[in-house]
Amino acid sequence: MSEELRVSPIETRGVAGKRRFAMVVDTRRCIGCMACQVACKAEYDTPLGVNRTWVPYKVSGKYPNVKKHFLPRLCNHCDDPPCVRNCPVEATFKVEDGGFVLQRYERCIGCRSCMAACPYNARFMLPSHRTYTPITNVVDKCTFCFHRVTQNLVPACVQTCIGRSRVFGDLNDPNSEVSYLVANNPTQVLRPEQGTKPHVFYIGADRSHTEFARDAYRRLDVMESERAAFNKHFKI
Ligand code: SF4
Ligand code: SF4
Repeated sequence: MSEELRVSPIETRGVAGKRRFAMVVDTRRCIGCMACQVACKAEYDTPLGVNRTWVPYKVSGKYPNVKKHFLPRLCNHCDDPPCVRNCPVEATFKVEDGGFVLQRYERCIGCRSCMAACPYNARFMLPSHRTYTPITNVVDKCTFCFHRVTQNLVPACVQTCIGRSRVFGDLNDPNSEVSYLVANNPTQVLRPEQGTKPHVFYIGADRSHTEFARDAYRRLDVMESERAAFNKHFKI
C-alpha cells in the first residue's frame, strides 16, 4: 500500500442523542465483483445508464507488477449536504434520526440544482419513460436503503458484499461494527476539503484511489459508455 491519507474524517456524528448511520468501505477487502452494484439495481430497478452505487476502478503498475484499485461509490449522506441547501422546493431533505439524505419525488421539479451542487456526482435524473413505475423525470440517488434499515435490515449492497468490504451501522452506537472499525483504523473520506462531512468512510484508500476518484466526480466519466447507451435510448 502506498502512502495513506491520514485525514481525520469524523467531523460530526449528526444530532446528539440520535442515530447516525454510516457506511465503512474497506477497500482492502473489495474484489471488484460488482455484486453490490447489481444488488442495488435489483432492489430499485434503476434504469440503464444510472447507478445509486457503482464501483470505479483503476489499474496501476507495470506488468507483471500490476494492481487493480476499486473504490465503491454512493451518496455520502453528508451532514452538511449542499444538495439539500440548493434545492429550491425542499424536495431533498435530511432525516434527523439516522442522518439519511432522502428525496421527495412528488415535490421534485427536476431542475437538477442538487445534481450541480453535489461534489460527488452521486445524483442522477430518472428518464421520462419507465416500465414498472410512474416515478419519472425526477432526481434520484442512494437512500442508504432507508426502507430496509427502518426494518432492521442492512442496505442491499451491504447484505450482498461477499468480501465484507461494506459495513453499515450506527456510528453513535459504541457497540456497532462501524464504530469499532472507525475507532481502530485510519479512515478516509472523499473530498474532505468540500466541508460536506461525508458519512461513507474508507479504509485503505490511498492517494491513487482518491486521485482517480476525482475523475469519477466528472459527470461524463461515471459509467460513460452506459450513459451513452442510456441517452441513445431514452429522452430525459
Ligand atoms: S453525497 Fe451528494 S447527494 Fe449525497 S448528501 Fe452529499 S451532497 Fe447530497
Ligand atoms: S431537481 Fe428536484 S431535488 Fe434537485 S434541486 Fe431540483 S427540485 Fe430539488
